[in-house]
Amino acid sequence: MNIKQIYFLILFFSAWSLYAGEIKFAGEAKQGGLIIAFGKNISSATLNNAKLQVDKSGYFIFGFDRDAKGVFKLKVRFKNKKTETFEYNIEPQIYEEQRLTLAKKYVVPPKKQSKRIQKENKLMKAARASVGKMKNALFISGFSYPVDTVNIHSVFGSQRILNGRKANVHNGLDFAGSEGDTIRAVSDGVVRIAGKDFFYNGNFILLDHGQGLTSVYLHMSSLIARTNQKVKKGEAIGLMGATGRATGPHLHLGVQWFKKRIDPMILFNTSLPSQE
Ligand SMILES: [Zn+2]
Repeated sequence: MNIKQIYFLILFFSAWSLYAGEIKFAGEAKQGGLIIAFGKNISSATLNNAKLQVDKSGYFIFGFDRDAKGVFKLKVRFKNKKTETFEYNIEPQIYEEQRLTLAKKYVVPPKKQSKRIQKENKLMKAARASVGKMKNALFISGFSYPVDTVNIHSVFGSQRILNGRKANVHNGLDFAGSEGDTIRAVSDGVVRIAGKDFFYNGNFILLDHGQGLTSVYLHMSSLIARTNQKVKKGEAIGLMGATGRATGPHLHLGVQWFKKRIDPMILFNTSLPSQE
């Protein structure tokens, strides 16, 4: 090997290592936040030592629960054995309180419904169990609103006060609209369950967007997509309604990264990091 060749090798490897270390991020590191990352030549990534799934194309995703606290450490290892570490200090959010009055049967479900609710919970659990097995980042199709006319009715994270008593947290984003309005997939995905007439959810659809990211669409008057169907971003999956525990026609959109509750608004405010 002559001097010229050695020079070339040194140049090549220094350029390579610089290049391999670059990660691009989009999204927000906050309670209920979501980060979409892209990098080339990644061999593995971990968040607080838990392994993340990385798509062949170099995209990966991770999120922070509504009540996440403290420091999260992202470690990315590249094929050239180099590693990079990023730290996220999650600041608490302030959530609003929302007072609601509902018929008593929805606050305390009647005993005769408990078997039905149990059965529905089991079906939902089974559907969620299949989430996270798809390494493919279908979400790289990007995100779009699930309704044609956007009218936010209730934000993510509110503490609900039902009939004067502290109740559950609103783990989604509500869109107001009319019975029969078209509801569309927020990103490419696979239908894990198209549930009919559930006590709480009514008619609903759970979409799997890969790497543990899901979106759920509740209270629909009717379903268009079927269980196991592949859908495209913007494709009609159902019609708006007030089925299940709903006070009027609206869409409740819930987003999760595995069991972490994510603010759906993040999706619509985030452009994917480019591959360039
Ligand atoms: Zn809701």
